Amino acid sequence: MITCEEFTNRVTAYLEGSVPRGERIGMWLHLMLCHHCRRYLRQMKEVVDLLHDVPLGDKTPTEESSTADESTKQQLLEQFRKSRGSSGE
Ligand SMILES: [Zn+2]
Repeated sequence: MITCEEFTNRVTAYLEGSVPRGERIGMWLHLMLCHHCRRYLRQMKEVVDLLHDVPLGDKTPTEESSTADESTKQQLLEQFRKSRGSSGE
């Protein structure tokens, strides 16, 4: 069984579908047992969906837009983690 820390470390990969099947099952089982991680996954999914909807790179050349997109995403995920940490749960 994986821990909450392992789960949260893999959440973005899980949402992007890049977690191997064996690990996905472990994460899925963890979700069944852990409502904290269910909520975390749902919040992360909203962030990831939001980021996928943001039309980035319209004004920039294609080769730059992908890196800008990626760093913006990382920044937003950082902010999200920080804001979550200080929201007082
Ligand atoms: Zn958990």
